[in-house]
Amino acid sequence: MEDKKNLLRNLPGVDKILEQKEIKTFLEKLPRSYVVEVIRQILDETRKEILSGNLNIFKSDQVIRKIKKALDKNTHRSLQRVINATGIILHTNLGRAFLSESAQAAVQNIIKGYSNLEFNLQTGKRGSRYSHVEDILCKITGAESALVVNNNAAAVMLVLGTLAKDREVIVSRGQLVEIGGSFRVPDVMSASGAKLVEVGTTNKTYISDYENAITENTALLLKVHTSNFRVVGFTNEATSEELVNLGRRKGLPVFEDLGSGFLVELFKWGITDEPTVQQSIKSGIDVVSFSGDKLLGGPQAGIIVGKKVYVDKMKKNPLTRALRVDKMTIAALEATLWEYLDSEKVVRTNPTLALLTMDKEKLHEKALKLKGMLEEALESSVSLAIEKGFSKAGGGSLPLQELPTYLVTLVPQEITVETAAAKLRDASIPVVTRIIDDKLAFDPRTITDEEMSLLVQSVKDVITP
Ligand SMILES: *Cc1c(COP(=O)(O)O)cnc(C)c1O
Repeated sequence: MEDKKNLLRNLPGVDKILEQKEIKTFLEKLPRSYVVEVIRQILDETRKEILSGNLNIFKSDQVIRKIKKALDKNTHRSLQRVINATGIILHTNLGRAFLSESAQAAVQNIIKGYSNLEFNLQTGKRGSRYSHVEDILCKITGAESALVVNNNAAAVMLVLGTLAKDREVIVSRGQLVEIGGSFRVPDVMSASGAKLVEVGTTNKTYISDYENAITENTALLLKVHTSNFRVVGFTNEATSEELVNLGRRKGLPVFEDLGSGFLVELFKWGITDEPTVQQSIKSGIDVVSFSGDKLLGGPQAGIIVGKKVYVDKMKKNPLTRALRVDKMTIAALEATLWEYLDSEKVVRTNPTLALLTMDKEKLHEKALKLKGMLEEALESSVSLAIEKGFSKAGGGSLPLQELPTYLVTLVPQEITVETAAAKLRDASIPVVTRIIDDKLAFDPRTITDEEMSLLVQSVKDVITP
């Protein structure tokens, strides 16, 4: 009884709490009345807990910590930065590619004021928003013409809806893929109004299968990059050259959905399993589409490149208006693409390519640094180690590519590894990790240098009771 009275008496008052440095800073971001309300609420809850006999957990610094956490939640936007410690470079749930410095700057600059988004500065007349990236896309890919829409799913829909509405499109059964659970080739095709004609089997399709399926209703031959899986072993697919030849003979365009927009060869780094956009165009494919935020490493976008006759038709399709991209996307994409003009340098300046090609020494160095920082911050309450492991490209790209890395692993002592992972996601700077063999695994590949100390702070908050 005495204990309860003492605890209640020792609870700080609202004014006293407002004077605390950690709480005071919230007054700059939140209305005073709101901060006071949150403090009152937490104090009320605390009193109730004390009265119900819970005497051991409420020291006043813990009350302050609880208030701080409640206020923190309210200063955060719903969409916020997180630290991706999973080592999955293009994690669709974590926003896929992040932007290079020049792309970030380009967006910053364009959103601060008005722009010539659809205004031709030479003529003083209306211009086209697509003109800003068309030349550079053609220069890089070797295509005649280009168009950018909201994402690659939209691009595929626009191509099919323009070139094959109410007509037949021939595609191999081995390429009827589902990507990330929300993009299924058959579903997108029916949504576009094109009729799917499947040929061949899951593992073997020959060019003769396509030829035999052609009727007077056929509008298009489709090739889909099976981004997130590979059929290996006893397999055959028609080559791009075979499809192009057949298309020419029959007067049918060939469209390839490449998925990832891979624009630069990375053989030197052992990345051999992804076709480039340039190769597709060079092989004579008429229309190619790909994402802006996969291996290209730019903003979310769907990019269509190919023969002018076909791209012009898409530009005129009213659907294009519904799929159009915002000025922020165009600014980011233009800056990202310009970096590709220097194919040596882009591997360092484009974050996606830089992470993909990060060498083992650098990864080891980063892992050592992170482990050292964690050791210093966490005392002896956890066991830390460096272990070999693998990162992933993600985003349906390079499914078989092995990307060796060094993981910093951590076994929490007081809480389970699942609880620790959940608390890290809920930290004021959320950290997303993998759990491997009952350990938290931090992959330094996807943790930027600036994020290291933030990650350590979040881990410290979670692990220290
Ligand atoms: C990822 C992917 C898509 C979908 O692209 P989004 O940009 O996510 O809309 C379509 N086709 C293939 C082959 C893909 O890999």
